[in-house]
Amino acid sequence: MVLYNDSAVVLRTWKLGEADRIISLYGAQSGKIRAVAKGIRKTKTKFGARLEPISYVSVQCWKGKELDIITQVESIELFPVLKRDLERIRKGFAMVEVVEELVGETGADFDIFKLLIRALYRLEACDSPFLLSGYLWKLLQTQGVVPELDTCVECGSQENLSAFARSGNGVVCSKHTNVTQISSDALRVFHLMSEGELSAALSLPDSELRLEVEAITVSLVETMLDHKVKALHLGGY
Ligand SMILES: [Zn+2]
Repeated sequence: MVLYNDSAVVLRTWKLGEADRIISLYGAQSGKIRAVAKGIRKTKTKFGARLEPISYVSVQCWKGKELDIITQVESIELFPVLKRDLERIRKGFAMVEVVEELVGETGADFDIFKLLIRALYRLEACDSPFLLSGYLWKLLQTQGVVPELDTCVECGSQENLSAFARSGNGVVCSKHTNVTQISSDALRVFHLMSEGELSAALSLPDSELRLEVEAITVSLVETMLDHKVKALHLGGY
């Protein structure tokens, strides 16, 4: 068997048998990792709380056929401030859970790792109202989802763009029905996020606009997955 090391964020964990857990992680060099932490549920375990979701760790694993086996774990960052604040925990869980659901086991993508780790460090430092939406929007881009924002995807019009197509592939003009209405302010936020002006979007104050933008990004994620993601609905919508 091959031994490897990586820096990784814990995405999700599952019980396995009496004492073990399966840990899903996203590693800088390995991408998605599925590994068993043996004995983690016993009281005197060397892994302790290091392998909880959202934690950023350095791991050493044996490569297995289906599941790898974790042999060592060191904490890099446990995000203690984030984990003491319910609103930030909600966002942190949403961030890792979406990588778990949306990103396949298709090898390493350093852009995804960088996006996730930067978002978590930012969430630890301060809670920006638009951080989760900005993160989801950028994560969708890594998966090839880049909604059209300037031209109606149904008829090509560039005027009266007032809704989002249910398919999630972009905006539509006011002629069309069975669409999700979008305010001009929300459309402006998506433009900022798409045009490298994420910090401008992140500095916007909390308002109804935050809920609108978050609801649209969540629906884009769920359209792509074709199912709901529970962690994205803990904010009450
Ligand atoms: Zn149209």
